[in-house]
Amino acid sequence: MMTEDYIVHATAANASLRAFAIRSNQLTETARNKHRTSPVATAALGRLLSAGAMMGAMMKGENDVLTLQIKGDGPIGGLTVTADSRGHVKGYVQNPAVDLPLNPWGKLDVGGAVGSGTLSVIRDLGLKEPYTGVCELISGEIGDDLAYYFNVSEQTPSAVGLGVLVGKALNVEQAGGFIIQVMPDAPEDVVSALEHRLKAVTSITALMAEGRAPEDILSILLGDMDMTVTQKTDVRFHCDCSKTKMAKALIVVGAKELGAMIDEGKPVEVKCHFCNTTHTFSVEELKALKVKALSHINIID
Ligand SMILES: [Zn+2]
Repeated sequence: MMTEDYIVHATAANASLRAFAIRSNQLTETARNKHRTSPVATAALGRLLSAGAMMGAMMKGENDVLTLQIKGDGPIGGLTVTADSRGHVKGYVQNPAVDLPLNPWGKLDVGGAVGSGTLSVIRDLGLKEPYTGVCELISGEIGDDLAYYFNVSEQTPSAVGLGVLVGKALNVEQAGGFIIQVMPDAPEDVVSALEHRLKAVTSITALMAEGRAPEDILSILLGDMDMTVTQKTDVRFHCDCSKTKMAKALIVVGAKELGAMIDEGKPVEVKCHFCNTTHTFSVEELKALKVKALSHINIID
């Protein structure tokens, strides 16, 4: 299926800047439908999905996986997004029904919904241990928090703009964003020119509301800095869960717990957090898994 969602990769100022921009209308709407998110939860999840998709696209390996995790003390509880380098992204919020009044600027109060807490960035590059970076949330607005993370934890000065526009029917009208990163060899005048440009752009959502494409948004920000689009990646909400994977997870839970489920005498429903799909296991299937769990233990022992 063709998607209207995509990521643009670009460089500018003699490759001393690298930039990514995304249109994520469809994938955010898909997430909203799967999780039945309230407007503020749609905005929060859409922003994190957009950032995750772009950061996924920054990775080089086919099987690299990126996870963004926000844990806050606000009513939304937390958010998790996972993306790969091939344009697949998925995510969920802990409390999708969270409802808050608009903030003093008349916008959906994502910062209020998230509260204070931490942002974790986990990159699984197929090495023994995944690489994990953690930093404090500075506003809970997600874009600011990611910029702070890049600056502090990865020593890469970055500008991050993320926006989701929710319509009257609670649907996603526009979603997207950009990440612009300053490479270590960037000349001072390039950095100040970029800062100047960023100050002039008041809101990413305002640009998106005008229906601007990702490359147009980058042109507005980097147009006079010799910007070159280097790649485009189609992106979509995609969960790779399956009954087989859930069965493996149940085997890991262990024979004892499976035995308790079998004794209940009822089918067991296992829900995937990421896409809200329910996978059902009959008592007969649970019995077969218990046999596997027992032999699994024998193999490990
Ligand atoms: Zn799933």
